[in-house]
Amino acid sequence: MDLLKGNGEKTMHYLDNAATTAVAPEVAKEITRVMETCFANPSSLYEPGLQSELLLRKSRAAVATAMGCSAGEVYFTACGTESNNIAILGAVQARSQWADHIVCTGYEHPSVENPIARLEQQGWRVTRVMPDSGGRISPEEIAKQVTSKTALVAAMQVNNETGAVIDVATLAKLVKQANNRTMVHVDGVQAWLRLPLKLSATQIDSYSVSGHKIHAPKGIGALYLRKGCNLLPPFCGGGQEKGIRPGTENLPYIAGMAAAAQMMHKTMAARKKQISELNRSLRNALLQMPDITINSPDDAVPEVLNFSVNGIRSETMLHFLEQSQVYVSSGSACSKGAASHTLGAMGLANERIDSALRVSFSKQNTPQDVEALLSGLADGIAQIQKR
Ligand code: PLP
Repeated sequence: MDLLKGNGEKTMHYLDNAATTAVAPEVAKEITRVMETCFANPSSLYEPGLQSELLLRKSRAAVATAMGCSAGEVYFTACGTESNNIAILGAVQARSQWADHIVCTGYEHPSVENPIARLEQQGWRVTRVMPDSGGRISPEEIAKQVTSKTALVAAMQVNNETGAVIDVATLAKLVKQANNRTMVHVDGVQAWLRLPLKLSATQIDSYSVSGHKIHAPKGIGALYLRKGCNLLPPFCGGGQEKGIRPGTENLPYIAGMAAAAQMMHKTMAARKKQISELNRSLRNALLQMPDITINSPDDAVPEVLNFSVNGIRSETMLHFLEQSQVYVSSGSACSKGAASHTLGAMGLANERIDSALRVSFSKQNTPQDVEALLSGLADGIAQIQKR
């Protein structure tokens, strides 16, 4: 990846991989190859169409392997947002005869929170389970809210702002014990290929993923739907993706996402080690700095570390760090600088929320990035507090 100059020195310190990741060279190469050689519609009956259909099948199988499910349970979509909307709207539609209730966490991504808020306006009752002040939500706390009228339980596996993890396999088991007609939807966008999960070994009904969080481009995603799962798809069109997500398939990006999934699946253990070391060294150094409070729980995924720089607004520090080409986020990328939804749900004081920064690692990060961040923070604290 060209984040390095020829002499091995970094040109930038990109520490915002929860917002998006750089497209891996092998993924870009595969996309170009498919665009140039495999343009026929996979639904066409002649030979080039069959070649496209074959590649679609091969890509589906590769993504299924990386999700731990069968190929017939993977549906390609345009993004994580679309996957979440299809699952949520489709689940409640299919259960509207007997259900009137939805359970979700109080810190969902807008692509889960907003369709649920729309359903709430339409008359569905919604129970939102809040995290504790450390950012954690237990599966027991969520499952306790399920009644005989609950259509859907929706929870994210890894929180995009703090990296907090919910044990979604246990959650699905507990929900099914409470009501086996309730659909369990998991937003796995920040978790997929970071945490090991074999979907076929769980009772999760649907699981959303996104290409651009795993070094594929933006504009491609997938939805796992357990075989036999009852869902009324919100989109109407042709029969592509078995009618769950109609529309001519984006074959180049599908093949690119499959290449990224294979690469990420193969490198999972090595990445975990590398990223855990980066996280540990950053965390330890931040703990020594008097002006910093860590907001991520200790057992968060190592890819995400959220902290507040006391007395300095997030945007001020973000732009200060940018001068040294250190790129972090002031919250989730989609909030565009709005106050953090997750830290607010945790009940943190406004000053801590307004000064929060999120660092998020990928395999492309090195100790040089952590050093550049720490030196930028130290300079920033000294200079901005003097103003
Ligand atoms: N869910 C979570 C937890 C996310 O972090 C994101 C993106 O940031 C999404 C869903 C949406 O994914 P996409 O950008 O592919 O629509």
